[in-house]
Amino acid sequence: MRAIVVGAGIMGLSTAWALSRRGCSAVVVEQHQVPNPLGSSVDQHRLIRYSYGAQASYTAMVADAYAAWDRLWADLGRSLYVDTGTLCIGAEGHGWLNDSAATLERRGDAVEWLSQTDLARRFPLLRLDPRDRAFLLPSGGVLLATGIVEALARYLPVAGVAIRAGSAAVSVDPERATVTLDNGEILSGDHVVVAAGPWVGRLLPELAGRVTPSRQVLTYLYPPPDQALAWSRMPMVLDIDPAFGFYLVPPVGGTLMKVGDHSFSLTGDPDRDRQVADAETASLLEGCARRLAGFDRYRPGEAKSCFYTVEAEERFVVEPIGAAGWVMTGFSGHGFKFGALMGEAVAETLTGDRSPTALPRWAAGHDPQAPEGPTA
Ligand SMILES: Cc1cc2nc3c(=O)[nH]c(=O)nc-3n(C[C@H](O)[C@H](O)[C@H](O)COP(=O)(O)OP(=O)(O)OC[C@H]3O[C@@H](n4cnc5c(N)ncnc54)[C@H](O)[C@@H]3O)c2cc1C
Repeated sequence: MRAIVVGAGIMGLSTAWALSRRGCSAVVVEQHQVPNPLGSSVDQHRLIRYSYGAQASYTAMVADAYAAWDRLWADLGRSLYVDTGTLCIGAEGHGWLNDSAATLERRGDAVEWLSQTDLARRFPLLRLDPRDRAFLLPSGGVLLATGIVEALARYLPVAGVAIRAGSAAVSVDPERATVTLDNGEILSGDHVVVAAGPWVGRLLPELAGRVTPSRQVLTYLYPPPDQALAWSRMPMVLDIDPAFGFYLVPPVGGTLMKVGDHSFSLTGDPDRDRQVADAETASLLEGCARRLAGFDRYRPGEAKSCFYTVEAEERFVVEPIGAAGWVMTGFSGHGFKFGALMGEAVAETLTGDRSPTALPRWAAGHDPQAPEGPTA
């Protein structure tokens, strides 16, 4: 079996990896270089964490995601993951915070609620508000994202996968499993998989109204030198307030500390809108000043923009297109952690080892066994 995969982000590369493990042949076409610095997958880090609000299916999927990463680490010969633990914080009555804790507790996972006193004692680097509540999870950590994409790009050719960097797909025929490249060449296989990140609507216009590119801003930060060691031992901090939506990645595994805004912009063109305006950086730093004690001692680093591809309910879209095609999209700001797992799931489906009707529901965070219709 031969598959043509469009896109060398984490989804396309993971699918090619999983296909190669199943003895299939795969060609990956990528419009830019690999890693593509403009792709959603390429940055120093991506977080993996169990706290998922009320979304029990995605919470449960995280354990499977860890197992899939372990299989990838075994093939790559090294792990590109650093454990940090997860600190979830928010104002009293905060929906996402309470829902996450309730979902985890229902599964029997340990959720350590911290009193204000404990919070202040254990996390003096944070600035707290008397209305804050917080819980700590021992699980969760940092996937070294660019390192993973680079390692896959080195490993896959050795495993027999061809990577065609600098080749843009201009059209896809999912009935015949063909992909036409910008040089006029037509590649054909038994299946075509489109994993084109925020560019998906250009190749498959029928998806353009269903998933929306969303320009997001992040900034690196240099903590005061006397706090660098303490920060390297901090958990990730998630303050997913609907009004602000802040996440903080501690400086681990040779990376920089990073803060990003999780509130969706739902605007932007991934080829053009890359410059970060001073006002955007200022607004992010204002959020940091609300959360980090003595923030005037921090030095802001580079600010960057990056694109999410957002489905209305933040559900992943892994669906058949035509007789011989699949699309993987809608991974929003939470897809990377499931990259290896999604790649395996698509490869299993293409090789007939997984139900093609159950896969879209599972990927969308619905229980595949449950009757059709939205689940919580
Ligand atoms: C700032 C930010 C923070 C995030 N944080 C997290 C996090 O902490 N945890 C988490 O799990 N997830 C996180 N995410 C989400 C996650 O990174 C994405 O969901 C995931 O990387 C999407 O991968 P992808 O392969 O679908 O897309 P991409 O990485 O964008 O890959 C798509 C590739 O397809 C190529 N392509 C597109 N069109 C064509 C074409 N016509 N021909 C050839 N090639 C084409 C593109 O050039 C690109 O390289 C974050 C995302 C961002 C932007």
